[in-house]
Amino acid sequence: MRILVVEDERKIAEALKKGLESEGYQVKLALSGEDGFFCLTTEEYDLMLLDLMLPGRDGIEILQSIRKKGITTPILLLTGRDTVEDRVLGLDSGADDYLVKPFAFPELLARIRLLLRRGQQEPQYILKISDLEINLLTHRATRSEQLLDLTVKEFELLAYLVRHQGHVVSREMLAQDVWLTRERSTPLDNVIDVNIARLRRKVDGPFELKLIRTIRGVGFCLGESDHG
Ligand code: CA
Repeated sequence: MRILVVEDERKIAEALKKGLESEGYQVKLALSGEDGFFCLTTEEYDLMLLDLMLPGRDGIEILQSIRKKGITTPILLLTGRDTVEDRVLGLDSGADDYLVKPFAFPELLARIRLLLRRGQQEPQYILKISDLEINLLTHRATRSEQLLDLTVKEFELLAYLVRHQGHVVSREMLAQDVWLTRERSTPLDNVIDVNIARLRRKVDGPFELKLIRTIRGVGFCLGESDHG
């Protein structure tokens, strides 16, 4: 588990690093908000500890920029201030939790464990392959950040292919899992083929890298490989 600690007071930062490392976490220190923002937007972390009072852009501004970028890494705010307004502002700005200094180290550890657990339990509702991204909550699909205009059925079909990426999906599987019928018929196979063709036009048409392949006599496969 990798934790990014953003704290301008070197002594506190070093103490946090040492304490967290002795618990088995990998820790990276950032001594300014800009530094922290840079680290979080260029490397992967499981959690960020963010001091609220930082020189330059303070914790709240950093937090807001991070969330505006769509980065969902759990963030625990550390602060010396404890007013209701600060807490509300912190949480409204996208922090997941809030701890007031001075705090007991075991409490920090407990909150970190809780946030990491929560992060792991969260259903993964954004699926990606190459530059294709689909959001199972909002039913939005994008390629190269361009919104794809899909019907409900086309979206379900695409989501199914993305979930099975790299594997061949047969018409039988699509009939059963997307059209929810065990009956096989030529008309249904035709409907499936028409939907695949439309989906392919929308998902692959304008893009050089084709993601949806037909495996002759077997079915379809979604993947980055463009041979076959
Ligand atoms: Ca500070």
